[in-house]
Amino acid sequence: MINYHEPLFRPPSEALSLILQITLGCAWNQCAFCEMYSSKQFKIRKEEAIFADIESLSRYADRYRKVFLADGNAMVLSFDKLSRILDQLQTSFPRLTRVSAYALPKDIEAKSDKELQLLAQKGLKLLYVGIESGDDELLHRIHKGENFASTSHALQRARKAGIKLSVMIINGLGGKNYSQQHALESARIINEIQPEFLSTLVLSFPYGEEHFQNKFEGDFIPLNPIELIAEMRIFIEKLELSQSIFRSDHASNYLVLRGNFPRDKQEMLKRIDAVIKDPANARLRLERMRGL
Ligand code: SF4
Repeated sequence: MINYHEPLFRPPSEALSLILQITLGCAWNQCAFCEMYSSKQFKIRKEEAIFADIESLSRYADRYRKVFLADGNAMVLSFDKLSRILDQLQTSFPRLTRVSAYALPKDIEAKSDKELQLLAQKGLKLLYVGIESGDDELLHRIHKGENFASTSHALQRARKAGIKLSVMIINGLGGKNYSQQHALESARIINEIQPEFLSTLVLSFPYGEEHFQNKFEGDFIPLNPIELIAEMRIFIEKLELSQSIFRSDHASNYLVLRGNFPRDKQEMLKRIDAVIKDPANARLRLERMRGL
């Protein structure tokens, strides 16, 4: 039995994974739109405590083949620490096929190519990265602490080392003023990185729009649902991906889109065009149609 430090988050695709908390909170914790870990002081857990959790969880070794390392950016750990944890997981979970974690580009950049390759060999197969936008101005305005170049460089290095990437872009992040540049630059960075998995969600305001406005550096004018979908159209139209699985099916999305690039790109654009042309008859999520 282990006690998780709440709140605990994991990507939807890790629903069947064992969760191992190796850090608490997020080492950055400054993004204007994010309140996930605002109640937590960032901390790297002691190795004895992590190893005790692995020991305790190993009774489920027959049941689990995937482990997700929480919290916010577990990849911030040094190579040596991550390495020891991955080794212990391999020993305690003989059927393990994948270890994954959230990461910031700077966490990846702090490791050498050789270290990234070794982490991949030791089982770290997938990193989840919230890119949010490819637009440098917007990244600055939301205090992301990364820019186009730092993000693209780090993520391409991870891919070359054999680590797959699941990345996320936030639809509506810049509101009306930055919508066009956000869509274009986000497509450009995704095209450079060529992630295996790409998803989008819609900017939401868990503590109210004013709370976000206060943290956003500039004038934020929210997009209405059709404008959000129009922004997605620009983004998707500009994507040139050789092999990526795309999901825009988070609860925040008005229009659910799923497909594989490049195969389903035109079909998705057709669906978007149909919604923009005739919103009243579009099959948008009923619970999210307020404001149409
Ligand atoms: S880096 Fe991720 S978890 Fe941390 S504040 Fe930004 S969005 Fe939230």
